[in-house]
Amino acid sequence: MKFDTVMDREFINDELIKCNQCGYCLRSCPTYQVTLAEATTARGRNTLLRDLINGNIPDDEGLRNPFFDCLLCGACTVECFTDVKTDELMVQAREQFYQTHGEPPILHYIFHKLLPSSRRLTYLMRLLSLGKRTGLSGLARRLGILGWINATLEGAEGLMACMPRQFLRDRLERLGFSRQNHDGQTVWLMDPSDEAQSTGPRVAYFIGCGTDFLLPHTGEAAMKVLSLAGCQIIVIEHNCCGLPPYSYGDIAAARHLARENIRVFQDLGADLIVTECASCSSFLKQYAELLADDPEYTEPAQKFTAAIRDFTEVLAELSLPQPTHSGCLVVTYHDPCHLVRGQQIADQPRQLLVDAGGAQFHELPEADWCCGGAGSYNISHPELSLKILDRKMGRFAETKAEVLATACPACIIQLDYGRRQRDDPRPVRHVAEIIAEGQGLMVGE
Ligand code: SF4
Ligand code: SF4
Repeated sequence: MKFDTVMDREFINDELIKCNQCGYCLRSCPTYQVTLAEATTARGRNTLLRDLINGNIPDDEGLRNPFFDCLLCGACTVECFTDVKTDELMVQAREQFYQTHGEPPILHYIFHKLLPSSRRLTYLMRLLSLGKRTGLSGLARRLGILGWINATLEGAEGLMACMPRQFLRDRLERLGFSRQNHDGQTVWLMDPSDEAQSTGPRVAYFIGCGTDFLLPHTGEAAMKVLSLAGCQIIVIEHNCCGLPPYSYGDIAAARHLARENIRVFQDLGADLIVTECASCSSFLKQYAELLADDPEYTEPAQKFTAAIRDFTEVLAELSLPQPTHSGCLVVTYHDPCHLVRGQQIADQPRQLLVDAGGAQFHELPEADWCCGGAGSYNISHPELSLKILDRKMGRFAETKAEVLATACPACIIQLDYGRRQRDDPRPVRHVAEIIAEGQGLMVGE
């Protein structure tokens, strides 16, 4: 394994030198808590990386698990007195691992061909949606055909209870958006709701892949709520935020997606770029850092990053009418890692559930403990992911809440899977949906 860029070497050495092996991170690490194996702790992973750099251990396949089974949840960094960024170290380690051992062809295709083409991605998702809704994909999974084609596909199929007939982008017209042409670019515009109490910012809405293809009603709810809060909303064609390739250590693919997104958003005249996907908002805020060494994109990336807001963050600064009913619904809340640690946003969603959603709030024990979803971790590491999820669902079972709310589509998919596994009838919903309901707004399927 070669660490051949100065930046990587400096970052890795600076971080590794801070790890004094104290072990304070052990209690907060979800993978360690379910395996009790040293190699699955921040301390163990950092030690392996250090030994590798120093040439004390072979650069072989045995490193795949310790480097790739980290959730990148960031919980260890919070506990660490010296603030070792193990999650970022593991991204670097994965990049170097693939440079030596090669990126799996299916991932290379997804990150370099599929994600940079929204048209191709949408086409594939339409096929998957059709397969899921007609039962064909379930049959193929039971017969082992999906697993034969690809284990990732098989895992993904099993996670979703169903797929929507219409993606979020298919619903824009029905939501009240009008289609316009802006310098050769198709732009969808929705004015603030007639009931809006004041004029809010002009918001470019970033539609995450999970929202568009799997949970369109969460994006629909968020847009309707923003419109009611006085925002004008703009939707354009754009790519995936880049977090999936980044998490797998394909930083080049993530940078390519970031550049494309900056390019299409930059001349829209939007005050803010908003998304209800906490994973997307967290990663979009990292573009300035991601492209810091690219002279052409340094300044545009800084401007882009400065405009990003999570839905819960921006809504907490806007005003909405009093909810139509108050205190009828008892809700608890799971903190997505990308919101609570990635963006230090914890109070706003809780407050919004009460003030704007009219809910009665009950705190969830260990609310900020990772649910095990971690992007596609539930597909790449199903056994570990399920054990981590089990702890989360056990905590939910302790509460008397009627609904489990959260603020990230990836968490919703994982938590809803856990709920179904336990036959728990209580739904998992995005904060935006609860607010929309509290405000008397109708949201589709
Ligand atoms: S990562 Fe931090 S908390 Fe964990 S062993 Fe190293 S110094 Fe201690
Ligand atoms: S990022 Fe999460 S899973 Fe990875 S070492 Fe830290 S606490 Fe453990």
